[in-house]
Amino acid sequence: MPLIIVSGLPTSGKTTRAKQLHDYLSARVAETQPPKYRLHLISDDSLSISRAVYDLSPDTVRLHTRSANSSEKDARAALYGAVKRVLSERDIVILDGLNYIKGWRYQLHCEAKAMRTPNCILRVACPVDQARQVNEERRRRRQDTTEHHGESAPEAYEPANWDNLVFRYEEPNPMTRWDSPLFAVLWDDDEAQTKRTFDDLWDAMAGEGRKVVKPNQ
Ligand code: ADP
Ligand code: MG
Repeated sequence: MPLIIVSGLPTSGKTTRAKQLHDYLSARVAETQPPKYRLHLISDDSLSISRAVYDLSPDTVRLHTRSANSSEKDARAALYGAVKRVLSERDIVILDGLNYIKGWRYQLHCEAKAMRTPNCILRVACPVDQARQVNEERRRRRQDTTEHHGESAPEAYEPANWDNLVFRYEEPNPMTRWDSPLFAVLWDDDEAQTKRTFDDLWDAMAGEGRKVVKPNQ
């Protein structure tokens, strides 16, 4: 199956939702014996990609980088390689990340198509101020834990990097082939609502109504 591309603002709850979806899909996959699909969760964290690769501020871009966003390009190449290694008709891949560039989502869509498997977008929607608060909270916790215990809290974004990513974010557009079908979970969606969204996603991607992907479509 399908490649599920998670997309949303920085610190908007993407990893939380990606894990919930992973749990949901694990249960669905286990309903058939032997299981029809294998499940993979790929993210910046699983590939040890730092938040700093998205930072384009001139004073933080390291001197050895070839251009302002080369480290981000390298990160995308690593993610692309990881997806390509496992994607097939029998594999469900959840790609948890910002996935904010429309050209990048297009590239992933083409990769899925080449593997004759569908793709969809899971848009994690969250008010900007709410997401900003999460990042600020993370920055505070990180400072506290490194000062007091020497262990680190989840990585936060530098504020300028965070603002810039929000500014650069290219909203998925369900009118395009590569951003559809599009499913959305909102910050306030409770368990029941989230399950309904995941049910819809499953039906479209793996259920009876699953779209057949033809190579030259
Ligand atoms: P991202 O992957 O987008 O950076 P995370 O999933 O890591 O975001 O979430 C950041 C923080 O926000 C975590 O502490 C998480 O517990 C909290 N969080 C995420 N989604 C929600 C939600 N829908 N409701 C309440 N808290 C949430
Ligand atoms: Mg995350």
